[in-house]
Amino acid sequence: MPELPEVETTLRGIAPHVTDRTILECVFRTVKLRWPLDPDLCHVLPGQKICKVERRAKYLLLCCDHGTIILHLGMSGSLRIVPAGTTEQKHDHVDLIFTDGQSLRLTDSRKFGAFIYTDSNPYSHKLLCHLGPEPLTDIFSGEYLYTRSRGRKLTVKQFIMEQKTVVGVGNIYASESLFRAGIRPDRAAGRVGSKRYEVLVGAIKEILLQAIDAGGTTINDFSQADGKPGYFTQQLQVYGRCGESCPSCGDPVRSQRLGQRSTFFCPKCQV
Ligand SMILES: [Zn+2]
Repeated sequence: MPELPEVETTLRGIAPHVTDRTILECVFRTVKLRWPLDPDLCHVLPGQKICKVERRAKYLLLCCDHGTIILHLGMSGSLRIVPAGTTEQKHDHVDLIFTDGQSLRLTDSRKFGAFIYTDSNPYSHKLLCHLGPEPLTDIFSGEYLYTRSRGRKLTVKQFIMEQKTVVGVGNIYASESLFRAGIRPDRAAGRVGSKRYEVLVGAIKEILLQAIDAGGTTINDFSQADGKPGYFTQQLQVYGRCGESCPSCGDPVRSQRLGQRSTFFCPKCQV
């Protein structure tokens, strides 16, 4: 599933090709992704210029003259820049064709993605207005997590995965950052001290930045018609490694279900 670093990489990959481009045509090849595609957009979008592209959590915002396209990659979505008229493959559901002869193509085999449009402030949209801070901003600090977690009985892993706490810490990044911070994932959020939250915030930022850096090498893939766009495998220390040796102490990595999500940790290194 595309996580925040992949979405950020996607943003950087497509931005130079769509910014300041005027939409000539909008083509839908399915009626519904996660939500129905609005056929009116095929009339509303042509003629509009994309002024800039932004990211909020895992949403991409294509800010146009009169409104904003809110795009989400769902479980399996990806975006590519292809020459207009490139033969579509099975899961190529949306094309935004530009007047310069290029097009932005959304491919999504599982159809959990989103392509919607609003002519109001996108940040007030119901999908975006309740989201917590971005993890790579200064607002997201150890003090912030410590204050918000007082009295919370849920596990620290579930707490940092809540979108209203902070956005973009998916299942893999939660396990990896708790390992790096030496905190057991099943510890109650309200019982983790402020010093440890500071370490955890540092770990989350480092891991996300590393992943974004890793994605940087794939930026050009977004405009290669035959290439698969830039998702990247990362060095994972504990995630998916149940029974393997902990890279720090050598004891076996354990796994556990927390909130129905697989969780990986080292019982010796994480307390
Ligand atoms: Zn260990």
